[in-house]
Amino acid sequence: MDNFRPVRAEVDLGALRRNLQRIKRYTDSEIMPIVKADAYGHGAVEVVRVLRQEGIKRFGVAFLEEALELRKHYPEITLMVIGSTLPEYSEVLVKEEIIPEIYQIEQAQALSDAAVRLRKTARLHIKIDTGMGRIGFRDSAYEDILKIAQFPGLFIEGIYTHLATADSPDLDYAHKQLQVFDELYARLCAAGIRIPIRHAANSPALIQLPQSHYELCRPGIILYGLPPMKHKGLEAGFEPVMSLKARISHLKTIDKGHSVGYGRTFTAACPTQVATLPLGYADGLRRSLSNGGEVLLKNKRAVIIGKICMDQTMIDVTDIEGVQVGDEVTLIGGDRENTITASEIAESCGTISYEILCGISKRVPRVYTY
Ligand SMILES: *Cc1c(COP(=O)(O)O)cnc(C)c1O
Repeated sequence: MDNFRPVRAEVDLGALRRNLQRIKRYTDSEIMPIVKADAYGHGAVEVVRVLRQEGIKRFGVAFLEEALELRKHYPEITLMVIGSTLPEYSEVLVKEEIIPEIYQIEQAQALSDAAVRLRKTARLHIKIDTGMGRIGFRDSAYEDILKIAQFPGLFIEGIYTHLATADSPDLDYAHKQLQVFDELYARLCAAGIRIPIRHAANSPALIQLPQSHYELCRPGIILYGLPPMKHKGLEAGFEPVMSLKARISHLKTIDKGHSVGYGRTFTAACPTQVATLPLGYADGLRRSLSNGGEVLLKNKRAVIIGKICMDQTMIDVTDIEGVQVGDEVTLIGGDRENTITASEIAESCGTISYEILCGISKRVPRVYTY
């Protein structure tokens, strides 16, 4: 789609590269970058292109359709779905050589059938629920895996789990989860089941839980430069990759007593210079930032006034000198000495930076810098 309005999400691929190098200081294990949800809103096709140049061979997505989109562009990469795939799509998995996570016997059966029909070997990873309570084999994991190991046409390349509290200052529960995982793996080894790759680490575990690194790590958010934990920043200087910018579309001064926006939730207490921005909640600007959220303009902070609309947002620029139509406003990212991070926005919206990043909608064009 052509972009006729001055709004863009800038994606700094140089920062992405540097973040990968920083991640490598934490571990020697293989890195499988998580590029689900269009690489947390950054654009998976471009993100994968850059990470491949850095030597990454394996990528994780959440759903089959995300994997297929990447497969079209990159026939040779290893792709894994870390989420559910319905058994009826087993043939697609086998044909496109996409590694599914398997957490039900029926899925393994369907995958085996498809592999046999297509005369191929299907690679899979077994998901264990050690305490996340989401998906994965639980109590009968050992028996289930022994059964799956008997199915023809399958190669159990990996076994993995996901930690519920790796971002917490208290890692007791995470250690318990890893213990369940280790015990199961030891039993499988004793039974002669050889699974070459174990994995458990998301971003926070990569930073603060080296015991979880095993053969492979699955970082997401730190690749995109945001700290995965509240209690602890990122020492190694990770850089946010995405920024969100817009240019002022209209400027006016309103008199005392005049209001701004739907519902008249802002009324000027004195003459107020109001700038309008051509983006709104349909672009991923959270409506809860209405009357209080901040943006950067000319190295200063300006406050959002009135309710954020679907496509437009108003800010108070009374205290900023020399503002003109066309001036650039930063909604996420840095402007000289000032920065507004996705984490800061998340904090004011009562959510996490992840949701802010994936929330930047498709309507906002991604512009890549190198
Ligand atoms: C999303 C996800 C990750 C990545 O998590 P981050 O906290 O972004 O590093 C890793 N593993 C699984 C199973 C996931 O669903």
